[in-house]
Amino acid sequence: MKQSIGIDGPAGAGKSTVAKRIAKILNIPYLDTGAMYRGVAVAAKRHGVGFTDEEAVAALVEAIDLQVQYTETGEQHILVDGEDVTGELRTEEISQGASLVSRVPAVRDRMTELQRKVAHAQRVVMDGRDICTNVLPDTPYKFFVTASAEERANRRYKQLLEGGQQADYDTILADIIRRDKQDSERAYKPLYCGEDTKRIDTTHMTIEEAVNAILSEV
Ligand code: C5P
Repeated sequence: MKQSIGIDGPAGAGKSTVAKRIAKILNIPYLDTGAMYRGVAVAAKRHGVGFTDEEAVAALVEAIDLQVQYTETGEQHILVDGEDVTGELRTEEISQGASLVSRVPAVRDRMTELQRKVAHAQRVVMDGRDICTNVLPDTPYKFFVTASAEERANRRYKQLLEGGQQADYDTILADIIRRDKQDSERAYKPLYCGEDTKRIDTTHMTIEEAVNAILSEV
């Protein structure tokens, strides 16, 4: 296995921004594993499978063909049964759906298998919730990027306003807290920072400082 870089952390901590920059600097691919769980949630929605119906979700993940592809410019796309669903991944419903379907062991095992295949083939930067603790436990480059829930909600709030969208800070904060709880309290492979993982709290850090904190270790 090549020495890939694993970055875990709660929703909205800036993991993907940091991970993308590191991938670019090191000139290696970036795998957004959250998008894969979001792809499963989109598939569930389309098949009329409830996000909390564990048996049906487990059957669904065995039946669908989920693929990760990259465009020429390096953008990641998710295909479900050959159809590109990337444009449907970033809604609040799918964020919650991904968090719910990701509790199902069959879903996690299938995603872990796909993610390990990618890391076997090449050195990558991967971000998610269980990369350091489950997917790539043997890589020496493990990071846990976090920030206070209030700061994460504030960043998301500003991002939405800047994108010309409506936003309500309290709703965003409540969604973040709910997803944190679901992700870190689930029974199977929950989100946590392992003992051998470097914790980077970005509450009072810029993106550049977080990127440099990781690069100095790699
Ligand atoms: O990172 P992102 O917010 O896109 O992830 C969506 C959801 O997918 C998370 O809330 C989490 O429940 C799940 N996930 C996971 N394990 C990963 C990546 C994401 O359980 N490695």
